[in-house]
Amino acid sequence: MSDYLSTLNPAQKDAVLQNEGPMIIIAGAGSGKTRVLTYRIAHLMKQGVDSFNILSLTFTNKAAREMKERIASVVGQSEAKNLWMGTFHSVFARILRSEADRLGFPSNFTIYDTQDSVRLITAIIKEMNLDKDRYKPKQVLSRISSLKNSLITVRAYVNNPELVEADLHANRPRLGDIYKEYVARCFKSGAMDFDDLLLRTNEILSRFPEVLAKYQDRFKYIMVDEYQDTNHSQYLIVRALADRFQNICVVGDDSQSIYSFRGANINNILNFQKDYPEVKTFKLEQNYRSTSTIVEAANSVIEKNKTRLDKEIWTSNGQGDLIKVMRTISDGEEGRFVAKSIWENMMNKQLTADAFAVLYRTNSQSRALEDALRKKNILYKIYGGISFYQRQEIKNTLSYLRLLINPKDEEALIRVINYPTRGIGATTIDRLTIAANHYKKSIFELLTHLDQVDLKINAGTKTKLQNFVNMILRFQIDAKTKNAYEIADLVVKQVQLIKDLQKDGTPEGVSKVENVQELLNGIKDFITDRIETGEDASLTAFLEDVALATDFDSENKDDSPRVSLMSIHQSKGLEYPYVYIVGLEENLFPSGMSMNTRSELEEERRLFYVALTRAEKGAYLTYAQTRYRWGKLTDAEPSRFLEEIDERFLEYLTPSSPQASTNRFVDSSLFDTEPKTIRFQKPIKRQRQEFTAKKESIKPPSNLKKVRPSSGDTTNLFDTNIVVGSLVEHNRFGAGEVISLEGSGPNKKAEIKFGTVGLKKLLLQFAKLKVI
Ligand code: ATP
Ligand code: MG
Repeated sequence: MSDYLSTLNPAQKDAVLQNEGPMIIIAGAGSGKTRVLTYRIAHLMKQGVDSFNILSLTFTNKAAREMKERIASVVGQSEAKNLWMGTFHSVFARILRSEADRLGFPSNFTIYDTQDSVRLITAIIKEMNLDKDRYKPKQVLSRISSLKNSLITVRAYVNNPELVEADLHANRPRLGDIYKEYVARCFKSGAMDFDDLLLRTNEILSRFPEVLAKYQDRFKYIMVDEYQDTNHSQYLIVRALADRFQNICVVGDDSQSIYSFRGANINNILNFQKDYPEVKTFKLEQNYRSTSTIVEAANSVIEKNKTRLDKEIWTSNGQGDLIKVMRTISDGEEGRFVAKSIWENMMNKQLTADAFAVLYRTNSQSRALEDALRKKNILYKIYGGISFYQRQEIKNTLSYLRLLINPKDEEALIRVINYPTRGIGATTIDRLTIAANHYKKSIFELLTHLDQVDLKINAGTKTKLQNFVNMILRFQIDAKTKNAYEIADLVVKQVQLIKDLQKDGTPEGVSKVENVQELLNGIKDFITDRIETGEDASLTAFLEDVALATDFDSENKDDSPRVSLMSIHQSKGLEYPYVYIVGLEENLFPSGMSMNTRSELEEERRLFYVALTRAEKGAYLTYAQTRYRWGKLTDAEPSRFLEEIDERFLEYLTPSSPQASTNRFVDSSLFDTEPKTIRFQKPIKRQRQEFTAKKESIKPPSNLKKVRPSSGDTTNLFDTNIVVGSLVEHNRFGAGEVISLEGSGPNKKAEIKFGTVGLKKLLLQFAKLKVI
């Protein structure tokens, strides 16, 4: 593509043609900042700049790959290949490989991930005989991380009374000692953690002028995308490298700064203008990504932030559709609405699944969405994260459930026999495995006969094993009288699966606790659904469902188009034709943890701005009236962000008719067709609360029919109308044919072959079938 300049508007073109000197583009979402960077690089190369002399720093490696492809289309594959392009971490890890020996690190140094770092810190805390409740490893790591990102070395820390004082106040007087030991141990192991990749780069650049000169010389042109989210350490690296030639171009949007919790510093933008008095500032004001409805709606929200640089954004794109707002009864219904709506859009608009993204505030929200998409056989991928059922804390919890259903399940047993840690070490587990093989028994059987075999295990360990076995056996007894939810809840509480996570207080810990809670919610939903459709609601059935879900994950690894699911933080810089933003409820989005100060709330608002501006053609905003949070059904209040959008951009959907409703926040249920009232919501809520409160073994709730009347002229058909061969429609599974019938009256069941899900045996009383 040689006519790339003609694909730019005048302002973009000016920026691309500005080859030399410091420049900054601060502009709103979708205005072509990334495009300008991309073509600017291509243009430099066209002007004869050697690709080895260009460094470009992006927010994700995926963004770097995409930019490279674009550039390759202008300058050719072989030229583009040599560009230095990637995230700060990946680019500087590469540089450190050739330079780290100056600091005494081997060139093949290991990079510790967060888990490695936590493990090391835990060991240090233990060796120093410190109280691990007072010195929570993850909190300690996060403190060390923020010191490193502010370039505060151990020595600088010790000599800074203010910092030392702060940790004294936080009841962590030995933090400096831990920091020192942690750094020493990483060094001894030839390892760097993520923060070291930046800290050590800074160290090398400041201590070795010849190295600095070498890279200053190499990187004659430097570009940084998403500059608003750089931290202090990154800022210093860029400043040092650009110091000689000052050919530095940064682009960003202060309204999209969403990583302050990781040390991102919006002042870097303001500093830039001070550091380079010669700076040329470019404005891009035209948005090419979205409809005018989306652009103006996003503007109407972000205007509410007091701290922002003044800038305009407009588009000549058409008005497009109004932003659709949907209120659902529960989070489960929200998931189903999203899946159904995506399906309908795919059909009606002839789109593939990759035209859609679903964005959420917290990762645990993916569960209800994944379940609903899977049920509709819509492929999805979790972007920058792990599918719900693959997450460690979920696998651990499920392993307990698997074990109590089938104690021979060796994989599950080995996963949890020492989780949470109960002093059963790897040697003991090895011995048990060998002995079990020898006796041709399962490990669990062996454990129930510990007295009869000599495993050379000391008495203390034996007691621990005994306690573990007894606990599982007790769960098995409980499982006889409890439903799947109750038993799972009991296991989580008694095994104290989330107690440690709860204590640690870091964002990762909180997210894990939320996930485990969400698993419990999922089981509850599963039971409700299964009872409604008349299917098996047991724990075994649930585990089977999960196993199939996991299979769905691993089976579908081809490159078929998929719906993208991701947290809003992950969505920065990306764009999709249709975007669903879910969970727009107070305390969820804005997050309950970020409403204490104006600056926290403004960061949440920026997050919302990022989310909304990902959409090209259409946006859907959904919220649930009730949501299980922290194990309780809670009433949810619509997010303030919904109210902040100028009303004229919104259309309120009602489930049965996707038409506009005139009422703001109209009450609706997925199942009613008549004028909207709250008639059906209260009974459902009450019914679900009773359901939680009673905690007795599951019986079909007798009022379910009344609570969820189905649409159309559906009647209760359990003893009329339906015969073998009837064509019927189920509101979840779609159309199907009745294959056989059994039982009578309220126990009458039909085996039905559905086009969507295959064979299902349903209790007619609850199945809400319509003859078609
Ligand atoms: P964000 O703030 O979300 O990172 P951005 O400012 O980086 O957005 P880009 O991603 O570069 O914006 O551009 C948004 C979309 O608009 C892209 O699809 C891009 O290809 C398109 N676009 C940008 N400029 C033009 C133009 N002059 N003509 C046509 N399309 C354009
Ligand atoms: Mg961009």
